[in-house]
Amino acid sequence: MNNKIKYQQCKKCLYNSFHPLGIQFNENGICSGCEIHEEKNTLDWPFRLNKLKKIVKEYKSKKNNYDCIVPITGAQDSYYILHIVKNVLRLNPLLVNYNKYYNTPLGIHNLSNLRIKFDCDIIFKNVNPHSVKKITKGTLDKFGSIYWHCLAGHTVFPVQVASKMRIPLIIWGEHQGLQQVGMFSHLHEVEMTRRYRKDHDLMGYEAEDLIKEDDFLSESDLHEYIYPEDNLIEQIGIRGIYLGNYIRWDPKSQHEKMIKTYNFKSAQLPRTFDTYDYVDSYVYMGIHDILKYYKNGFSKVTDHACREIRYGRLNKYSAKKLIKKFENKTDNYINLFCNWLNIDRRSLKFILNENRNKNLWKEVSPNKWIKNNFYEKENLNQINKKIIYKINSNLIFKKEYKNNYITFDKGI
Ligand SMILES: [Zn+2]
Repeated sequence: MNNKIKYQQCKKCLYNSFHPLGIQFNENGICSGCEIHEEKNTLDWPFRLNKLKKIVKEYKSKKNNYDCIVPITGAQDSYYILHIVKNVLRLNPLLVNYNKYYNTPLGIHNLSNLRIKFDCDIIFKNVNPHSVKKITKGTLDKFGSIYWHCLAGHTVFPVQVASKMRIPLIIWGEHQGLQQVGMFSHLHEVEMTRRYRKDHDLMGYEAEDLIKEDDFLSESDLHEYIYPEDNLIEQIGIRGIYLGNYIRWDPKSQHEKMIKTYNFKSAQLPRTFDTYDYVDSYVYMGIHDILKYYKNGFSKVTDHACREIRYGRLNKYSAKKLIKKFENKTDNYINLFCNWLNIDRRSLKFILNENRNKNLWKEVSPNKWIKNNFYEKENLNQINKKIIYKINSNLIFKKEYKNNYITFDKGI
């Protein structure tokens, strides 16, 4: 949180001026995320889809080779991206998956089901566990992140494959900066950049920066995360496009279509009401989300609630109630993380607390913290709007995996 930023909260959603991705307000007090969201209701989407079809036509392989690369996981928008790529754009994709190690049985199931349903070739990247754990320890100590390696791997591996196999087109789903805070208009048709990856996905640290600055980490730990050279990217013409610029993006309804059509599995997660987005990871909605909460004063449930307010499926009153219900919940899987990283719970708790933003949190007695409340009082219409997320599985946790994450499995 930047101290110089004056506190302002959006009149429509629940974001405020301290949002880490940066947020602007118009003269009516509406945030840039809400403003750009409105484009979803005004843009000519059939025209935009045609534009996308024209763009990808150039990349259709003449030699029966792959047309594009699609980075996938066992959750998020992987199914929907592939659905569009195969059935609407009629492309032959090569799938790539970075093994993030924090895999749930459900994520493994969704990934294997996706490969069967879409009948695609896939390349997995498994960085050795010794290096992954060392990096996780390093980034947790340095800037309070246990997800750096996942984000770095997920965003670098597709570009590495693109350059090695000379497949220039990479297809992503939504652009987070556009969808959350309206960093760009859909009409800017923003594409993947190394700069955005470093500044936002990687919290300012590329692999080279960690090698240089961290005595604990060396090139042998991080070489798999080094981004290909700019001139190689240029020479091959590698570009990463976002489907959300050409197709009206709506994660909830997309996931529901994927459940119905391809049997995508969802589950209740400990810290949010959205049962679709992050079911493949034990930590994204667990320790990672707690760290987000301590650093920024809000957690993923606020992101989900703001998104649903914008789509009109929640009002502010119900959204606030959901946030209150989930944002202080504990993580049921902390022991799994401690076992994996070989760290004790006390040390982890200490590191988590160290990462609390002291402008947002106050320690009122040893180990008891309260959050400063900046919210301006609002007179909200107290009508409860119920939102329904489908749950079609309880497979998030299986007894046989109670001590370990699943590194590999064939799926359930
Ligand atoms: Zn807003």
